[in-house]
Amino acid sequence: MFDELTEKLESTFARLRGKGTLTEADIKEGLREVRRVLLEADVNFQLTREFLERVEGAAVGVAQLRGVNPAQQLVKIVYDELTKMLGERREGLKLSTIPPSVVMMVGLQGSGKTTTAGKLARKLKAEGRQVRLVAADVYRPAAIDQLETVGQQIGVPVYANRTTNDVVRIAREGIEEAKRGRDRLVIVDTAGRLQIDADMMAELKRLKEAVRPDEILFVADGMTGQEAVRIAQGFDEALGVTGVVLTKMDGDARGGAALSIYGVTKKPIKFIGVGEKLDALEDFHPDRMAGRILQ
Ligand code: GDP
Repeated sequence: MFDELTEKLESTFARLRGKGTLTEADIKEGLREVRRVLLEADVNFQLTREFLERVEGAAVGVAQLRGVNPAQQLVKIVYDELTKMLGERREGLKLSTIPPSVVMMVGLQGSGKTTTAGKLARKLKAEGRQVRLVAADVYRPAAIDQLETVGQQIGVPVYANRTTNDVVRIAREGIEEAKRGRDRLVIVDTAGRLQIDADMMAELKRLKEAVRPDEILFVADGMTGQEAVRIAQGFDEALGVTGVVLTKMDGDARGGAALSIYGVTKKPIKFIGVGEKLDALEDFHPDRMAGRILQ
C-alpha cells in the first residue's frame, strides 16, 4: 500500500525529484496538489486545512535536508500525518472480562447495521467466542427476519420477541437468555430511521441505560461522504459512541468519510465493510486507509 501511495505521489512530486534541496516554493506546490487530492476524496475542508498546516510545519525541516531524496521524505511526512489523522493505531473491540459483553449497533436505516451485526457475530464466533444476536429493530418487521436469516447462515442464535415493541424488554430478555446459554457476547441490533430523530435517540438512550453496553458501534455508510460526519456527531452527542464501522467501502468511497469522521469525533474506526457477504468485514488500519485516500 505504501508503494502504491509513493507511486501516486511521485508523479505529484516528479518535478522535485533529483533535486538536492527542496525550496519552500517546491513544498508549497506539492502541498497544493495534496490538498486537491484530499478535497477530491471528500475530506472535510477544515480538516484538510489543519492537516496541511501540520504537514507544512514538518516539511520545513525537510527543505533544509540535502542529499537524502527530499521528495521521498515529503511523501512520507504526508503519509504519516494522514495516518495520524485516521487514528494512528488500530483499535479493536474493548470487551469486559465478565460475560456476557454487550455490543450495541446504532446508525441510520440502510447504513448496513443489520448486515454488520451479522458480520461481527461471524467474526467473533470464528475467534472462538460464543455469540448471540438480539433483534431490537422492531419497527421494520423485515429486520427481525433479516437478522434471523443471517443468524442461520452463520450458525449464531438470534433472540427475537415479536409480541412486543418494547426494545428495552427485548434486549433484557436477550441478555438473560445469553446468560442462561453461557454466551460470552451479545450483539444488539437496533432500529434506525432515515434521518436522526428525537424519538429514535430517546429510545436508544433508554436501551443504553438498560443494557450498559461495552461498545456502542456507530455504523456509517462510507459512500455518504461528509454527510456521515454530521450524522456521526449526532449519534455521538446523544449516546457517546465508542467506535465506528464504515460500510460499503468496496464501492467508490474514496475514504474521505473515514478521515472526516475520526477527525471530527475522535472515535476510532474499528472495522470496515467491504461487501454484502457476511465475511466481508475487515479490521480498520489507519495506515492502509491513508494509502487508499492518496491513491
Ligand atoms: P440497516 O438498515 O442499517 O440494517 O442496513 P442493512 O444491513 O439492511 O444493509 C442495507 C444494504 O446495504 C443491504 O443491501 C446490504 O447488503 C448492503 N450492505 C451492507 N454493508 C455493505 C458493505 O460493506 N458493502 C456493500 N456493497 N453493501 C453493503
